[in-house]
Order: sequence, then C-alpha cells, then structure tokens
Amino acid sequence: MIQEYIKRVQSGEDCSEVIAKFFDEAKRIENYNYFTVLTPELAKEQALLVSKRIKAGEFLPLAGLPVTIKDCICVKGVETTAGSDILRGYKPLFNASVVQRLINAGAVIVGKTSQDEFGFGGFGINTGVGFSPAKNPLDPSRVCGGSSSGCGGITRKTSLAHVGIGESTGGSIVNPAAFCGVFGLCPTYGRVSRYGLIDYANSLDKIGSLAKDLGDCASVMSVISGFDEMDETTSTCPVPDYGSFLAKGVKGLRVARIKEAFGEGVDEHIKNKVHSVITNLEKQGASIREVSIPVVAEYAVPVYYLIAMSEASTNLAKFCGMRYGQHAPLKGSFDEYFSAVRTRHFGAEAKRRILLGTFARMAGYRDAYYLKALKIRTLIIEEYKKVFCSSDVLVSPTMPVIPPVFEDVKRLTPLQNYMMDILTVGPNLAGLPHLSVPVNKEWVGVMFTADHYKEELLFQAGGGCG
Ligand code: GLN
Repeated sequence: MIQEYIKRVQSGEDCSEVIAKFFDEAKRIENYNYFTVLTPELAKEQALLVSKRIKAGEFLPLAGLPVTIKDCICVKGVETTAGSDILRGYKPLFNASVVQRLINAGAVIVGKTSQDEFGFGGFGINTGVGFSPAKNPLDPSRVCGGSSSGCGGITRKTSLAHVGIGESTGGSIVNPAAFCGVFGLCPTYGRVSRYGLIDYANSLDKIGSLAKDLGDCASVMSVISGFDEMDETTSTCPVPDYGSFLAKGVKGLRVARIKEAFGEGVDEHIKNKVHSVITNLEKQGASIREVSIPVVAEYAVPVYYLIAMSEASTNLAKFCGMRYGQHAPLKGSFDEYFSAVRTRHFGAEAKRRILLGTFARMAGYRDAYYLKALKIRTLIIEEYKKVFCSSDVLVSPTMPVIPPVFEDVKRLTPLQNYMMDILTVGPNLAGLPHLSVPVNKEWVGVMFTADHYKEELLFQAGGGCG
C-alpha cells in the first residue's frame, strides 16, 4: 500500500499535502487518544528536506511516509514520556537509532503514540497519571490492546499511508495488532537497535512495526533492522529483503499448530477463525502438524512476570526526580524526596511492579524467584529450539479473547490481567520473531512464530494468508 505512495513522492510529488491531511485526520479523531504528542512543525521541516533530497537525486526507500513512534522511543526535541507523568517535560537531545534510520530513509515523524505507562499492560488502560486510554478503532467502547495501544489504533484508523513503530516486551506489538485488526511484526531480540528506547526490561524489549498491509511492515523492517554500534546486543546477521518473501507461496512450508494454544481459556470463535486460516494454508500446500510445548504453556506467564518486573524495578530507579522529567522543590532527605516524587508521578501499576520486582530479586528471595525464573527461561528456549528442528513456523491465536469493553477490563484482578498474555509471552521470553495477521480485517489475530533471525518465514507464511 505505501509503496505506490512512496513511488509518487520519489518521482517528485510533494508529500506535504498528505502530511497536512494526517494532522487534520488526527485532530478529527482526537477523542480516541492515540497520541501523547503530535509533531506538525517537525514533520513540515522533514517533508521539506525530503523534497530537497529527492531533487538532489537521492533515492529514499520511505520517501514522505508518515510514521508514528511509540512514546517510549526517543525523538530529538520532542517530549518523550513512555506514557508516564514522571517523564513529563523530558525532551531527548538525540534520536533513537530506529528514528534516525527512518528519517535517513525519508520517513516523516508525525507523532508519538500513547501506551500503558512504561509498557506495563496489555490493554492500554494502565496509562500514566493524566493520560487517557486509547479506544478501539472498530468500537470505541472497547480497548485497543497494549501496551502499544495508540500505535495499533492509529494504524487501523488512518486512511492514509502510514506505518506505526511499536515496542514489545511480552506481546505489546502483536496484541494491539490483533485487537485493532492490523499486522504487527515483533522481530528477533537483537534484530533492531534498542538505542534510544526507554527500557521496560532490557533482556526482553524489541522494537517492531504495525501496518495495515504486510508489505508495509516488510518495507519498514528492512530499513530499521541490522547492526548498530550504539547497541551491542544487535546482530551482524545480514538483513534480507523481507518484501521478496511475501509472494513466495507456502508450498512446502512446515507449519506446526501449537496444541496448548487451542485449549481451554481461548474463545471458541477465535479458535474457529484460526483453524480456517490453517486449513487455507494447507490447501495451498503447506504441511500442517501439531506440536506440544508444555513447559512454555505452564511456566511462561510466571517466568515472564518475574523477569520483566525484576528488570523494570531496577530500570525505574533512575526516575528519582533529579535527572529526567519531573522535579520537586528539594525538601527532606534523599529518600523522602525520592519517595515523594515517585508517589505522586507513578501510576498504580508502575508502583505494583516496582514492589513485586524488588521483592523477587531481594537477598533471601532471589534464589527462589528471580534465579529460578532465569533457569526456566532457558528450558523454554530449549523447548522452542527443539520444535524448530522439524518446523518452519508455529501457529496459534494471538490473543485468547476479542478486545474487551473497558468496564470488563476494570473488573479483572492483576493476575487475570497477566494471564491474558498466555499466548504471547513465550516467544518474547525466547527472543523469537513473531507476527500477528488479522483474520478478515477483524479483531482476531493469527500468530506465527519463527526461529531466531528467520523473520522472512513469517513474511512468507503471512503472505499466504491472503
Ligand atoms: N502485557 C505485558 C506486560 O504487561 C506485555 C507488555 C509489553 O510487551 N510491553 O508486561
């Protein structure tokens, strides 16, 4: 979809008009709460630069493309809060590597998208103090999913060429993609640079893309993936031309249906939709079999939350009211000052995670919780590696439910909330790439998972979903 538009801009059409339209549209749907900030001034400047560069003979693979950035990713000079009140007023002095690559490729940054505070949630309702939850583009009484909630919402709602940059720790790309009926690709851990990302949990965070069209995801992934000297966890493994795998067909592709993902707790309606996709793949020549991953099914949720919260609680320690964002008049001891600022500016879920994460890695509990979780994480990785010896991609539903209405989410206990991630935390813990494909453009997603650095197989499988 975006390729047509990019071609026109590359051959001389002015992109300012489309950019201006984007802001008109964003204004009209303001009440959906997709943005923490819009950047019309910056976009104007970038659009002008794009024209200049094209006139000077440069080829720009994303010429004039409006791109939105999840709020936890730094954009130079633009307020970047990760959806948290504690970072209000923080304007980074640099671009995240992903943002810089997008700009270099000719993309135009139009705004920062709303999210659960620091990524702490799966419904977009754990917003920071003073932020409002994003509403589902297909039915505003329902949630968008999360934590890349605004990103999922705007990606579906806009009528213009657009790609959203999201981030996933435990499912935050595929979850909102499924709930909003768009594609979402979460790459292998280390495929895309995290430099300039406000960390939730460093060993789990990945930056990826959401788009209405799988080809659009591919175009952007090819630009943002690859080694970055600013992030030593990025891989030097070459980046394939992902787009070339879309029309490859699925003949001979070994697709493994995850047995446990079709069990109790997953809506019948969703299972049926996903089954129809699998049947369709089989008709096109994919070979289908069933695999069982019992360790993932049983332990992924507790292991994920122990590790994610442990890392989050240390990451949040730097937000003490002295370095970034919110400050207060200096009063009392450091502990008193630090506590007062954090009490006031962190939301309830952030506080819960700081407490639980600190507990799990305290002397005396560390062996029983945090270290044990790390060991089971290794078992989870081994279990996946074994199934990839005889399968190319795994298939499951993305989410066990359709997007709930806000009222119902409010009634969930924290534990019930965390259990909603049962299908997405496994690949995230193992650092495996995964893709959510919308079924009939509705709010049901089918999720494909591939082995490390095999994103191209996801594009191949997704391309076969028609
Ligand atoms: N729902 C999960 C959590 O709350 C995942 C969120 C994410 O990927 N950022 O941790």
